[in-house]
Amino acid sequence: MRNQAFERVLKNVAMNRPSHAYVFYGSQEEEMRESALILAQSLNCACLTEDGFPCGVCPDCRKTSQGTHPDLTWILPDEASMKIGQVRPLREIAQRKPLEGATKVIVLEDARKLTDQAANSLLKLLEEPPRATVLILLTLKIENMLPTILSRCWQVPFGESAARLEPETGLRILESLPASLLEAFRWAASLDKEKDKLEPVLEAMEEIYRNRMVQAVSGGGPWDPLTCCEAQGLIREALWMLSRNVNALLVLESLFLDLRKIERAGRFRSE
Ligand SMILES: [Zn+2]
Repeated sequence: MRNQAFERVLKNVAMNRPSHAYVFYGSQEEEMRESALILAQSLNCACLTEDGFPCGVCPDCRKTSQGTHPDLTWILPDEASMKIGQVRPLREIAQRKPLEGATKVIVLEDARKLTDQAANSLLKLLEEPPRATVLILLTLKIENMLPTILSRCWQVPFGESAARLEPETGLRILESLPASLLEAFRWAASLDKEKDKLEPVLEAMEEIYRNRMVQAVSGGGPWDPLTCCEAQGLIREALWMLSRNVNALLVLESLFLDLRKIERAGRFRSE
């Protein structure tokens, strides 16, 4: 089955606007690992397809898949945890210029096993993203990751939640919010009744803002990047609270009220 969320990631590479950090998450561990490899290849491939897929045969692609590319760093947890000693050297690696390719790629497998110290070190790296470095974090459970790390990464679902992404519902909610306060509460109540839809719909909404932000930054959209970023933060905070079993209706009502303000401002700057 195609993973459209991942395909969007590659498309953005083809358009020369990759994110500086990604979190791949979900139950499909093998697919996640393979996709990280594909993304690593595509970030350095000399002859990408139009959709951003790597050619697989150029020297950069081959070295990446063999694990011998000097600009690829792939880290596995040291048994039960990923410790500060494994993460600290990354900051130095990130400061260096790429040796052969255009981009240095750092993959961290099983990133939920980061110790607090290691997570904080990684956060510093994400806060001042060095140029020409892309981080790809892989994790089975996104709930175990620090929200401050997540908020700096493009999140890509693998497995069940990828199939369940509900982009249309997400967009319908956002478009309806400016109309009336009642509408916001109506959506909150209907999602509260369909608990299995909750997470995918919120994730889809987050992705809408992320796409708007990408458009804004590349000069192709009327959106204000900071407002998009704020909206994404609000949605992620809500997802985090829902994972902590906070009352879903309250979380949704408060989220939709906040988003309503943002949506009512309409297109955030004049075209
Ligand atoms: Zn290639």
